[in-house]
Amino acid sequence: MTHKQIIEETLDGTVLFNVPFPKNIAHLKEMSPIILKHPYHVEYLHSYGQDSPWFAGLANKKLLGTECPKCGYKHTTPKLSCMRCGAETEWKELPPEGKVHSFTVCHYGAEEFLKETPFILAMIEFEGWNTLLLSRLVGLDPQQANLKWVGTKVKPKFRRNSKFKPTDVWFVPA
Ligand SMILES: [Zn+2]
Repeated sequence: MTHKQIIEETLDGTVLFNVPFPKNIAHLKEMSPIILKHPYHVEYLHSYGQDSPWFAGLANKKLLGTECPKCGYKHTTPKLSCMRCGAETEWKELPPEGKVHSFTVCHYGAEEFLKETPFILAMIEFEGWNTLLLSRLVGLDPQQANLKWVGTKVKPKFRRNSKFKPTDVWFVPA
């Protein structure tokens, strides 16, 4: 009986101080590419522009959307211009409770969220509002995902010290 053992690939490498170099430089075209690993860090200024009030809302534990004064269309994810008629919208507070419209369990994610997998992403529905809000759903076991979760009443929770990121808000069963 054989024992199958898998050696994991890693991104660790050897520090290279020298490489073979051909006497005839015409042979350089045959060399393999040199691959380096090094940290990469960028800092940049990012403007939230017209979405800034939404983040100011998060910092004050308020969830805002926008309403069109012309046709009445209500966007849970704020839009400065109405998605239906194009008119300029007005800021409105969302209802204190919503319900789960649909959800998915993420077993993979962007680097920032990898350590938190598996987690639940849900589309939240608010009474009288026309669009759905995408947010994290917390307080339910992602390993026990169940279609019965659809329709569950949920309420927002806010990070105490805002990071001015969409992840400052998440939802829990109400
Ligand atoms: Zn409109």
